[in-house]
Amino acid sequence: MALRRPMVAGNWKMNGNAQLAQELFKKFAAKLHNDAVEVVLCPPTVYLESVRQQMEANKDALNGSIVRMGAQNLSQHDFGAYTGEISGAMLSEVGCRYVIIGHSERRRMYGETSNIVADKFAAAQKHGLTPILCVGESGPAREARRTFEVIAEELDVVIEKNGTMAFDNAIIAYEPLWAVGTGKSATPEQAQEVHAFIRKRLSEVSPFIGENIRILYGGSVTPTNAADLFAQPDVDGGLIGGASLNSTEFLSLCTIA
Ligand code: PGA
Repeated sequence: MALRRPMVAGNWKMNGNAQLAQELFKKFAAKLHNDAVEVVLCPPTVYLESVRQQMEANKDALNGSIVRMGAQNLSQHDFGAYTGEISGAMLSEVGCRYVIIGHSERRRMYGETSNIVADKFAAAQKHGLTPILCVGESGPAREARRTFEVIAEELDVVIEKNGTMAFDNAIIAYEPLWAVGTGKSATPEQAQEVHAFIRKRLSEVSPFIGENIRILYGGSVTPTNAADLFAQPDVDGGLIGGASLNSTEFLSLCTIA
């Protein structure tokens, strides 16, 4: 049996502020005390430093809890004339361990193709970051029974460019588009089915990676539905949007995982 430490990652999106970072760490310091789960905070880039300071200030009070920092996006380029972009090296330098890649909002609203996502995956690893690669089907794709096809396509582009072994240092997040920010989560069975599919696909090339990679579920996870989702054998935690902005709810999700 692989030992996959559950992960709960908070994707603040374009929300939150330095005070939220403070609030979260106050709660973690008082109540988390749990190294059975890895907690990752992904604030907007300008608040990474606030989170880092909180991490530092609460080091002892965290008492063994594992809290790390991630970014929500990075440039596929290393440096240069890319106004408004942030490189992997910069994110590493300010203390990020993870970076979310290919979130559906970026694919849909900012024209990130699977090719760009594959390049960003490579850029993240090149600079010592672990990519959290998001994949997921739209509502119409699910209705047309194309879920596995879409997920396979999104995975395969990244595998072709980076090789399966690159997934030795990666996290996958299954985020069905119809569940992200809608209040309508996938059922535990729906999540499990897709997670098992992803794991199997990677196992076909490397049983070791298939067994060990952590696959998070994301899309309207709340303290109410989390226990059943996280209890699925192939669900290794969650990527949390809305509920990551409420320190009580987020702490509760970390505890459930
Ligand atoms: P949600 O977002 O939890 O608000 O649905 C999840 C995500 O987009 O990562």
